[in-house]
Amino acid sequence: MTANSSTKKHHLTIDGRGLAQGLLEQFKLQVQELSLHHKIIPGLAVILVGDDPASQLYVATKTQRVRQMGIKSQDFYLPKQAKMPDLQQLVQKLNNDHAIHAILIQLPLPDHLSSRQIIDLINPAKDVDGLHSQNVAFLANGQPKIIPCTPAGCLYLLQQVFPAGISGKNVVVIGRSHLVGRPMAWLLMQQNATVTIAHRYTKDLALHCQRADIIIAAAGSAGLVKGGWVRPGAVVIDVGINRLPNPNAARGYDLLGDVAFDEVQGKAAAITPVPGGVGPMTVAFLIHNTIKLCYQSLEKPYPNILKI
Ligand code: NAD
Repeated sequence: MTANSSTKKHHLTIDGRGLAQGLLEQFKLQVQELSLHHKIIPGLAVILVGDDPASQLYVATKTQRVRQMGIKSQDFYLPKQAKMPDLQQLVQKLNNDHAIHAILIQLPLPDHLSSRQIIDLINPAKDVDGLHSQNVAFLANGQPKIIPCTPAGCLYLLQQVFPAGISGKNVVVIGRSHLVGRPMAWLLMQQNATVTIAHRYTKDLALHCQRADIIIAAAGSAGLVKGGWVRPGAVVIDVGINRLPNPNAARGYDLLGDVAFDEVQGKAAAITPVPGGVGPMTVAFLIHNTIKLCYQSLEKPYPNILKI
């Protein structure tokens, strides 16, 4: 974590990039150990359906990082008209491939495909984002086998900010998606936090947030969380990634979180920036989960990085 130079020591900007880098150094050693002692290279397969440029960019970034770790990464691109049997065939092939230990289906899928049906085709032992119904049940029951990458990354960040834990803290999770909001809430409950799950039908979201010790914003709505919503001293984790067109920006768009960073920064005790907060943690935990699944395929124990 780095102290924000403009606000001195009481307000921290959580350095997701730096924390992820620290983890990646450990993961690289684990990959080397697997290769040296067990003659095995972890293998990750990523399936992308359609030509959404944002998804393509995510996949390219993930693949680059994963390969830098010494992990074998294979990307499979299917056209946006792909049908259920095409995916079934591909997932089945990867389930049977001994060199592949982890399978990720990049979401969202085109509307005609059911993500639930497709994710449930993955062998649960290769389900790197922990979204298979069986893995969801284990997590909801408080005995996770594999934790979805983004919530795992957020929990890791919270563990750095609160080394003594978050027991009894009031947490508002904004968003109830299967990918982020719900698994996040289950994890926090497991850590004995008092959790409020907010969503697009929640009334008085500002009031819920004002009572929170921790706010986790995963709504996909740029600048939703305003300065006035945040209690002084609260901790704010911004999961949102929103692309706002800006012809003057180098990439043609600005990347904004769900939190009005400039307003909240001076009030929160700690806040994650966008970019450079949760995003790098998601990639780090994708790598973590890939290595973990590889160790599990060998029936070897894997170190518990998340203290749960
Ligand atoms: P989603 O669209 O599946 O779910 C959004 C959730 O937010 C829904 O439950 C919805 O009810 C709620 N919501 C939307 N607008 C709201 C509002 N105004 N008030 C309260 N609740 C509201 O999205 P998702 O997949 O959960 O992703 C959420 C955001 O996180 C997106 O911006 C996404 O790009 C980003 N994301 C980032 C990472 C990362 O690594 N940083 C990973 C996954 C998702």
